[in-house]
Amino acid sequence: MHEPDELSNAIEAAAAAIARSGHAVALVGAGLSAESGIPTFRGGEGIWTKLGEPTFDGWELFNQDPAAWWQEAISFKQEFAEFNRAIDDATPNAGHRAMADLEAMGRLAHIITQNIDNLHQRAGSRHITEIHGNRYLVRCMSCGARDRLESVRLDRLPPLCPECGGFLKNDTVMFGEPIPEDALRECYRQTALCDLFLVVGTSAVVYPAAEFPVIACRRGVPLIEINPEETPLSGLASVVIRATAGQSLPAIVERLVPGRGRR
Ligand SMILES: [Zn+2]
Repeated sequence: MHEPDELSNAIEAAAAAIARSGHAVALVGAGLSAESGIPTFRGGEGIWTKLGEPTFDGWELFNQDPAAWWQEAISFKQEFAEFNRAIDDATPNAGHRAMADLEAMGRLAHIITQNIDNLHQRAGSRHITEIHGNRYLVRCMSCGARDRLESVRLDRLPPLCPECGGFLKNDTVMFGEPIPEDALRECYRQTALCDLFLVVGTSAVVYPAAEFPVIACRRGVPLIEINPEETPLSGLASVVIRATAGQSLPAIVERLVPGRGRR
């Protein structure tokens, strides 16, 4: 961890870089959701550590037999009830709110999130790409249309797309499943547009997410890392904030607009 002066210098430097930027993009990971009480997947208290990793052939199984996959998903949901409740009960934290503030202030153009919990939307952020999907949505495997999971009737499996008749699957991206094309395209577009890149609460080891900050950095775009832990990106970052998003992002907002970061 930082000495107190070092942390406040890093926050000052981050605020100055954000103030100078014209199109800041943030890549967000599980660390931000963990501050809202959502268990991470790996690590000591991780959901996969406790219940076992999900099978790596989920995508293949879906393609072989979508009806059987849905049947399995419905029972899987019960097995993961504790995890699902943790997500449903979670509320946006100070880090989510500060990111929504930055967007409202015109200082954060886009969020690329690896989280599936909908907390950015609930905090008020508007420009979001969810590369691993959203757990409250389903997606058509043929036309890519998305709809709310709760509006889908599960009395006949697999459920079909009302637009094109294709198979519906939950929007959450499974192991082996390609990142939805529309999401991936938007990520590369934002990576090409940005002039500042924030990496928040992610160890940035999972591709393709890990690639976006590296591509931006290669173009000379400065990186700001907000993470209590060192990551493979730390060496590339021009500003490193060794604190959580909830601790540091409100302080950045406060530097930009005094009085605003204290809510
Ligand atoms: Zn469709």
